[in-house]
Amino acid sequence: MIGGGIGGLASAVALARRGWDVTVLERAPSLEPVGAGIAVAPNAVRALAALGVGESLRDLSALQGEYGLRRPDGRWLLRAHADEAGSLFGDRTLVLHRAHLVGLLADALPPGALRTGMEGVVTDPGSADRPARVTTSDGDVEADLVVAADGIDSATRTRWWPDAPAPVPGGSTAWRFVAPPLPGAVGSEFWGRGVALGVMPLADGRVYCYVSVAEAAGIPRDLDELRARVAGWPTPVPALFAAVDPQAVLRHELRRLPRPPASLAAGRVALVGDAAHAMLPNLGQGGCQALEDGVVLGARVRPGDGVPAALERWSGERRPRVEKVMRLSARIAAPTLWTSAVATGVRDAGMRLAGRWGGSLGTRALRPVMAWRPPS
Ligand SMILES: Cc1cc2nc3c(=O)[nH]c(=O)nc-3n(C[C@H](O)[C@H](O)[C@H](O)COP(=O)(O)OP(=O)(O)OC[C@H]3O[C@@H](n4cnc5c(N)ncnc54)[C@H](O)[C@@H]3O)c2cc1C
Repeated sequence: MIGGGIGGLASAVALARRGWDVTVLERAPSLEPVGAGIAVAPNAVRALAALGVGESLRDLSALQGEYGLRRPDGRWLLRAHADEAGSLFGDRTLVLHRAHLVGLLADALPPGALRTGMEGVVTDPGSADRPARVTTSDGDVEADLVVAADGIDSATRTRWWPDAPAPVPGGSTAWRFVAPPLPGAVGSEFWGRGVALGVMPLADGRVYCYVSVAEAAGIPRDLDELRARVAGWPTPVPALFAAVDPQAVLRHELRRLPRPPASLAAGRVALVGDAAHAMLPNLGQGGCQALEDGVVLGARVRPGDGVPAALERWSGERRPRVEKVMRLSARIAAPTLWTSAVATGVRDAGMRLAGRWGGSLGTRALRPVMAWRPPS
């Protein structure tokens, strides 16, 4: 595996469970000790279960009570109950600290499989009759299978998928943090004019917050400016932003890949996670799809002969799914970038109607994403 993020770790755990001898090369000196929260949707909850990970989380970290979409004046646009969504999608969404998820996956690796502080470069993707070759700071290694999980700026993709489209700007900047415990925080996402802001309580009482601000709305220069921007928003938003340590706030300009490469396989190399299908975070599926990639890889690609052909079949299964999820993420992100009062007024009215007619959170569009089950 090249990369020790969610995609690389999940692939390594899945492959090790099927008898592969795995090594994860991660160029960072340690695994992401910082980071904010992450929502693990029902499809990915089942992917974690297939990896033998996180059974204990199912009750502990599940989204509880009412949650939904609101306006910055606090009025609900769409509202659902976690029980209802849980029975509809077969599982509840989990909300975790990202370091917790990464730690669970890393703990499920065979001993010694993780090599941090080590970069990997694919120098030959291999073929049916030739192993792949990876150059590391420890020398060259040959491999029957290489999983490139090296993120949105994947050097593997740039070199071995020269026709794959490069990342493009998503039109907004996001801030993420985990705030100290604050009683009474209710899971909500607020849509304002060019601003989308989420509040998600974690099992230990801390609160995961994220906010994206569209370029058209003017990007705040610093945390103080961001705090001023949400000062009049409903409780507990201002308090959460006031309480956070500025050092704990992550800021990223959002980017995405326009589409996945024509195939996610090249020779003996599989492209997974953001390297293959980086998407906007509005659907909360980037990491979930990386988990699915790994689980399906483990199920479809066995040690022994025929790895390139098996990878092509894996790609044929995964590519259409991740492309659909990328498209849906972009569709959901688009109205969060709108800044005009008229456009956002129409948007909000449409969401309220959708809530009334659909009964709950756009469930029809989400069902194919959330209903995924691992291969048996
Ligand atoms: C604001 C925001 C909110 C999000 N919220 C959610 C959410 O709620 N739910 C969800 O499912 N997803 C969410 N996502 C998406 C999710 O974070 C990503 O899709 C996921 O982390 C991708 O994992 P990855 O392993 O593919 O890539 P990365 O996490 O980018 O990992 C790549 C790793 O590869 C390493 N690496 C790179 N090159 C090399 C090399 N040559 N050699 C060795 N190591 C290398 C890097 O150091 C890095 O550790 C969010 C994203 C953003 C930006």
